[in-house]
Amino acid sequence: MIKQKLQDEINDQIRAEFQSGWLYLAFAAWFEEQNLEGFANWMRQQWQEEQAHGMKFYDHILRRDGKVELKDLEKPSVSAENPTEVFEQVLDHERYITKRIHQLYDLAEKEGDHPLKTLLHWFIDEQVEEEENAMNILDRLKLIGDDGGSLYLLDREMAERGAGGGNDGGDSGQ
Ligand code: MG
Repeated sequence: MIKQKLQDEINDQIRAEFQSGWLYLAFAAWFEEQNLEGFANWMRQQWQEEQAHGMKFYDHILRRDGKVELKDLEKPSVSAENPTEVFEQVLDHERYITKRIHQLYDLAEKEGDHPLKTLLHWFIDEQVEEEENAMNILDRLKLIGDDGGSLYLLDREMAERGAGGGNDGGDSGQ
């Protein structure tokens, strides 16, 4: 079994992961509108990855005979002038998720929940990767500036990201 307090927090985290996915899917549409298909692909892959994150927590609750509670998602707000601004928002968002994961880990430690701590080790690593990916792309976008040719090349590179990103195998997600 799993303590109620922890179960509540994990259910909140399921929502946070699916909300992340919703945000990435909105960014995918934004990039489609800009005719940046490669970036849109990257965002779609990220959307799928967030759903996989949500399902890891979902399965964790069920495997421990707990109760999954799905919550409402908010409409994602997407407001950006250019790809650099989008990736600034991505980085901020991933830092927020990292903070949540660390707080959940602190609680799991306080409550002596060893299985949850083990699950969260994966997420702690994953968040290092998520922030690293966002920072790398942001750095490149800043270098590119207004150079359309360079942006085109980066877009082509972003198109190569395949399904199954993340730190459990497959493409590392640029
Ligand atoms: Mg996530």
